[in-house]
Amino acid sequence: MGSKAAFLPSSLESGALKKRIIEIGANEVGIGDVSVGIAPELSHMPLAIALAVQHPPLQTQNSPAYPYIHFSLAIDRRLLEIQRIVTSGIRRKGWRALPIPPDSCRHDSSFISRIFKLFPHKTAATCAGLGWVGKSGLLISSRFGPRLSWATILTNAPLEVDATSIKRSFCGQCSRCVEACPANAIKNKNWKYTTSYRTMINVNRCAAELQKNKERYGQYACGICMMVCLQGLK
Ligand code: SF4
Ligand code: SF4
Repeated sequence: MGSKAAFLPSSLESGALKKRIIEIGANEVGIGDVSVGIAPELSHMPLAIALAVQHPPLQTQNSPAYPYIHFSLAIDRRLLEIQRIVTSGIRRKGWRALPIPPDSCRHDSSFISRIFKLFPHKTAATCAGLGWVGKSGLLISSRFGPRLSWATILTNAPLEVDATSIKRSFCGQCSRCVEACPANAIKNKNWKYTTSYRTMINVNRCAAELQKNKERYGQYACGICMMVCLQGLK
């Protein structure tokens, strides 16, 4: 991202803004109306810009923690830089913008870590029509499958939202992630926009598996449900 890339289009027209976000390094971007159900603390910013960076091809022969260990830091740095550029550009035009960083920053002890509890990236992405929540609990993009890392910018800028939010699963009869999960943590439930994460995933079993990987590989990570999903593969 060069210095010229630091500038957003002169107007905040949605199409031009999304084009610019792709130019500065995102692989996917959409704008959704998240006003329904948003926490009262954030309701003054009813729109969400959902943006994502694609993961490189996975090396399944390596450890289950491989995808996270080897590329998540580089991807997160790219997402954070895109967020910084877009957020400061929107603020310079006089509108509010609150960046919600990638999920791997959830351990951060700063103010923003408290916001994570109030707003998941999946809400932004589904409201922007970019994907659905798979049986694995991961956001599934029809273009990239689960192989994306996400970040969100909440704003009150007068942007046009993408036409169709996604409110149901397109996993259908597939159960690859259910069968592959080493912790038997995936409950084989198709998501709807009213479905809670805990209805779909046994979070204690998943957390125990991640803890085992921390002891084995030094990373609180897994990635098997991501690796086996065929959505988005050509
Ligand atoms: S991250 Fe691993 S343990 Fe957790 S649901 Fe996915 S496959 Fe199962
Ligand atoms: S592996 Fe199949 S069931 Fe699991 S998230 Fe992907 S499409 Fe859905």
